Amino acid sequence: MYKTLIILLLSVFCFSSAKSQNDQEIKKALDNINSKDLIETVKILSSPKYDGRFPGAKGYDEASEFMRNEFKKSGLRSLNNDNYYQKLNVEYNQIDKPYQFIISKNGVKLKSYKLGNDFVFRCFTGGNHIKAQVVFCGYGISVPESGYDDYSGIDVKNKIVMVFKHNPKWKINGKVEWPDATERTKVNAAVKHGAIGIIYVSEPNESKVELPIGSAMHGEGNQNTTFPQLHAGQNVAVDLLQESGYNLSKLQSLIDSLKKPLSLALKTTVEIEVHTKYVKDKATQNVYGIIEGSDPELKNEYLIVSAHLDHVGSQAGEIYFPGANDNASGSSSVLQMARTYSKMNVKPKRSILFIVFASEEQGLTGSTYSSEHPLIPLEKVSAMINLDCIAFGDSIQMGNGKSVPELWKIAREKDSLYTKQMTHITWKGGGADGTPFHKKGVPMIYSVTKNSYGHLHCLSDKVETLNPELFEKVVRLAYLISTEVTNGNYKREKVSE
Ligand SMILES: [Zn+2]
Repeated sequence: MYKTLIILLLSVFCFSSAKSQNDQEIKKALDNINSKDLIETVKILSSPKYDGRFPGAKGYDEASEFMRNEFKKSGLRSLNNDNYYQKLNVEYNQIDKPYQFIISKNGVKLKSYKLGNDFVFRCFTGGNHIKAQVVFCGYGISVPESGYDDYSGIDVKNKIVMVFKHNPKWKINGKVEWPDATERTKVNAAVKHGAIGIIYVSEPNESKVELPIGSAMHGEGNQNTTFPQLHAGQNVAVDLLQESGYNLSKLQSLIDSLKKPLSLALKTTVEIEVHTKYVKDKATQNVYGIIEGSDPELKNEYLIVSAHLDHVGSQAGEIYFPGANDNASGSSSVLQMARTYSKMNVKPKRSILFIVFASEEQGLTGSTYSSEHPLIPLEKVSAMINLDCIAFGDSIQMGNGKSVPELWKIAREKDSLYTKQMTHITWKGGGADGTPFHKKGVPMIYSVTKNSYGHLHCLSDKVETLNPELFEKVVRLAYLISTEVTNGNYKREKVSE
């Protein structure tokens, strides 16, 4: 009787002390994931030194070097001779001086536009010095075989076209999908009809009109190295359309309501000069480090914690895109989680691969490469958590929850216990750099804040704009989910598409 009672009391004691030890460990970890350290790393990565972290450029290499050194300092190990780099090639383009963008009418120069304020070059612009009349060509789409052609019946030979940046929200004849809206598709349509340059303008009839932004989303196909491309603000469109009888909003409304092209030659001429260095295959790298698990069996299984390190670079040595939220915030969180795990007394049972990817901005290039040349066999990956744009906005979203209901459940439980700021909006089918892994059957959950994109790809995506409290909560939640995976409580689930 006494024996039983003693055993019972002892086990209750042991259990509760284990529990309180566990609580202490969690508290220690959460203290270590604090907004001060998180913001400090964002400050570093978004500083001028790293020049907008464009893969292939010196700034990105230096940001990689910073991450590698921090991984090393935290005791993470590499798989290849202390290198911590997974090398890959990407397309690269450098935008150099001198540049200009001038509007004139009847031979009289009207205005010289300011880079960064009035316009930005597309990251994959070609280099040239051109002067020509402007022709407005609607959405810049030419698919006559499907029954739509913005270039039909209008002469753009040796002219500069102005087109909407995205595709219409409606379909051709109510059913046919548009070709992709990447710049190569739109540029190829313009080139095919003899145009020599392109000016993108954002659609004015949106609830929030997009500013000129830096973008490296070039799409498939060859680079047009002599074809200048820029994204102009609405003020430029006003100037270009003068005496045309239209304004941009009216043009969009007419095209969208009639569902027919409305292209017109304008009375204005522009001069565009820009110089570029394009390299088809330029070496860059994903940066990673591993913490080995403590359990003899489970250490052969992995959690991946990831984010993209790259952003959209700089232009002509004059402006750079800091990318504080996108995605210095995710990179900072990967680093802070690595630091936290390496400091804990209770080591994770499963191993953890921390990785920051190159070239998300070109279309998930670094993560796609990493999923096709995995550092560890993907069947050994228990789960992946990807963090992208997590420090600006108003609440936490965990994406891809519908494809991974067990991970999603853990996320909701941990949020209700600790962070209490998660929306219950989720989706399926992947998300950001997690997508290529998701497609290969890796259970992946994707952390992004709600209303995250207020400064997306703008010069204003600066550390001062971030929401440190929210940032801290997102990373704490990511840590708590991760710990359920690394301690073995989560079993790899079958991913539904
Ligand atoms: Zn981005």
